[in-house]
Amino acid sequence: MIDRDALRERIAGKRDDVVELTRSLIRMPTVNPPGEGYEDCARHLGERLARRGFEVVYERAHGAVGDSDRHPRWNVVARHEGRDPGPTVHFNGHIDVVAVGSGWTVDPFAAEVIDGRIYGRGSCDMKGGLAAAVIAVEALLEAAPDLPGAIEISGTADEESGGYGGVAYLAERGYFSKPRVDHVIIPEPLNKDRVCLGHRGVWWAELETFGRQAHGSMPFLGDSAIRHMGAVLAAFEAELFPRLAAKRTDMPVVPDGARASTLNINSIHGGEAEGFDGLPAPLVADACRLILDRRFLIEEQLDTVKREVRDLLDRLARERDGFRYRLTDLFEVVPSMTTADDPVAQAVARAVEQVLSRPAEFVVSPGTYDQKHIDRIGRLPSCIAYGPGILDLAHQPDEYVAVDDLVDAAQVMGLAALGLLTGAST
Ligand SMILES: [Zn+2]
Repeated sequence: MIDRDALRERIAGKRDDVVELTRSLIRMPTVNPPGEGYEDCARHLGERLARRGFEVVYERAHGAVGDSDRHPRWNVVARHEGRDPGPTVHFNGHIDVVAVGSGWTVDPFAAEVIDGRIYGRGSCDMKGGLAAAVIAVEALLEAAPDLPGAIEISGTADEESGGYGGVAYLAERGYFSKPRVDHVIIPEPLNKDRVCLGHRGVWWAELETFGRQAHGSMPFLGDSAIRHMGAVLAAFEAELFPRLAAKRTDMPVVPDGARASTLNINSIHGGEAEGFDGLPAPLVADACRLILDRRFLIEEQLDTVKREVRDLLDRLARERDGFRYRLTDLFEVVPSMTTADDPVAQAVARAVEQVLSRPAEFVVSPGTYDQKHIDRIGRLPSCIAYGPGILDLAHQPDEYVAVDDLVDAAQVMGLAALGLLTGAST
């Protein structure tokens, strides 16, 4: 039997290793969009794991959204087969990072270490988590080379743009289904004491209103699409927003505000732009466009979510002269939630308690991540997110991950994998 304390000590002894691996990943600016440098990053991980006896496969997501010869969508999947048959535990991390944005006080790709924190784009979301998983698994294989079952680690593309060139592509090819895989842990930054069971649903849609163009000095001769959109917004304010705020879920979503149903108006566009002289085109707008971002709860059905909006628009069409609209679906994901008594959720929760000496908190994420593809395409319910890093720092300027959190989370992941592979429940 493997001594759990010895495993923890071995992982603690790899502190410099986890720091250096995280830094080397941050220094590869895998910014998405457009999806830069995926191949280098995938090979960096793959070559390291191959040296440690993993069988490594590289998969380019040919034909996926965004894949091109200039920006190929490369993924890496590494598998270490145990001596005896048993379950497979898979750690999946996305290698892409969001755009840098403004407001940084450090170089976003220098991976500087300052006061026990590694700074850089992707440090928290989620190269730190991926590095911690690699270190956890390497330590586990050193400590227990005779473990049954198999361990997999994948580094995948495009999570930040929906995962179609990454986890979705691999899931369609059986990489995230039984019998190949039994349990998946995604080291997204959810804070090191939380086990994330899933996420709310998403519906993105485009709403257009239409009018009739006329001279801006005689708007009564036309019909303003922008005023029609104004009527939509007024109806949203009066009816929809209060109704959504009143819906509460039993899902343990964090932060608490996201336990209600939410709607964001992502953007609104209408009318002609100003000319080169900075003066407006004096026209009544004949079209206006709005993008909505509706996040919904496991207690809600997607068709009901859509009907709420459509009913409101149909009523405006009956009551308001000249009101015409078009509603187009852009993207949808239904909510996903693993039960807290699932083996992977339990194994990670037990490991959190052992490492941090406090009970794990079960949470649900307000936004989606690659778990949706593992659930919907792979049909594998035994999947959770667990990783180091503070959720609120993801996508922010001066993003960082604390070195202590990397080591703690690596210990949790190592113990959880050990528990799942050996079937130990203590
Ligand atoms: Zn992420």
